[in-house]
Amino acid sequence: MIYLDSNATTQVDPLVLESMLPFLRESYTNPSASYAAARHVRKALEQARQQLASLLSAAPENLVFTSCGTESINTVHASVQQLWPERRQLIIGGTEHPAVLESAERWKRQGGTVAITCMTREGLVDLDSLREHLQAVPTALVSIMWANNETGVISPLEEIVEIAHAAQALVHTDAVQMLGKKPLSVAKVPVDFLSLSGHKIHAPKGIGALYLSPRVRFQPLLVGGGQEAGRRSGTENVPGIVALGQAAAMMEAALQDSTEDRLRQWRDGFEARLLAALPDTIIHGMAAPRLPTTSSLCFPGVDAAGLLILMDKQGIACSAGSACHTASLHPSHVLEAMGYDARHASSTLRFSFSRLNTETEVQTAAEALITAVQKLRALWQAEEGPVVLA
Ligand code: PLP
Repeated sequence: MIYLDSNATTQVDPLVLESMLPFLRESYTNPSASYAAARHVRKALEQARQQLASLLSAAPENLVFTSCGTESINTVHASVQQLWPERRQLIIGGTEHPAVLESAERWKRQGGTVAITCMTREGLVDLDSLREHLQAVPTALVSIMWANNETGVISPLEEIVEIAHAAQALVHTDAVQMLGKKPLSVAKVPVDFLSLSGHKIHAPKGIGALYLSPRVRFQPLLVGGGQEAGRRSGTENVPGIVALGQAAAMMEAALQDSTEDRLRQWRDGFEARLLAALPDTIIHGMAAPRLPTTSSLCFPGVDAAGLLILMDKQGIACSAGSACHTASLHPSHVLEAMGYDARHASSTLRFSFSRLNTETEVQTAAEALITAVQKLRALWQAEEGPVVLA
C-alpha cells in the first residue's frame, strides 16, 4: 500500500513502538504506586511530558495527558463554559473539525450561544468577522484550529490571539494537525488552551494531551483518583504516554533537520505534475500558508468516489475530504465554508503525506491519479458527450 492519508491517522513509527513495548511487558506497574518499579514508570511518564513540552515550548507541568484530541477539545469547552457563565458566547472557525463543531452544539444545549466566523476562499478565518462577533456579545472563548485537516491551511493564530485577548476572550486552538509539522510555540503564540493527539504524529491511537496556560483557571472533565495533578483522573495510559513523548521528540528532531523542506518539495512536485497534466485542477488554499504535508485537490467534473475506487485498486490510500470520522462521502463543510458548492466538494480528494513516505511513492501516486482522472473523463465523454467542467 502507498499510504497517503496521514491526516486521518499516521503509521506508528517503529522506534515509537519500541519505546512503548517495555511498558506493556515488564514495566506495567501503576505509576502512582510507591515501590521502586512504579517510580521507574513514573519517571518515564514525566520524561514523556518533558519531551512533549519541548515540542510546544511549554512548561511540562502545563501539560495534561488525555485519551485523544477530541477529549482535550471537549474538556476545554466544558471547563470554560462552567467557569465563565457570565460570558455566554463561544466563537469557532467555519472549518473546524467535528470534535469542535459537536462540542459547540453542546455549548448551545447548555444555554450558551455559538458564533461561527466567515472564512475566506483560501480557508483562512476572516478576521473582521471575528472582530464583529467579539464586539457583538461578551465572549468566553474563541476556539479556532491551528491547521485544517482537509486543506492543511494554517490559521494566523498570533493575530487571532491578539484580537481575542483584546476583547477579554480566552483562546483555545485545536493543534491536532499542526503539531510536529511546523514549529509551534505557546511561548510565542500565547494561547490559553491547546489540544493535540498522538495518532497524527506517529504515536498510537488513544493518547492525546491538553496544554493549559498557567494564567487561566481550569475545571477537569474527569474526576476520580486525582491523576495528572487533579486535572484528568483515570490511571495513566503509560505505554501511550511514553509513545507520545518519543513521537514528539522525533517530530522535534525532524523539524530541526530538512524534513519539512523535503516534504514540501514532494508535495509541490506532486501538485506541479498534476497541474501540468490536468491544468484545470484546483488546489485548495494554494495562496494561504499550508502544512507541507497536505494537498486538497478538485478535479472539476470528476466524481471523487470513483477516483477513490481507482486509486484503491492501485493500492493507494487517500481520502475524499475528511475521512477520519466517517466512512461516508458527505459534502465537505470545510469546502462549503470556503465558498465552494457540493458539486465541487464531491470532486475533491485529499492526499496527506508523512516523513515515512518516499518521494517515489508520491510520484507514483501522481501518475496513478492522472491516469484515473483521464479514465473517468474518457468514460464520461463516451457516455454523455463532452465533459462540462464545474
Ligand atoms: N481535530 C482535528 C483537526 C483532527 O484532524 C482530528 C482527527 O481526527 C481531531 C481533532 C480528533 O482527534 P482524535 O482522533 O485524537 O480525537
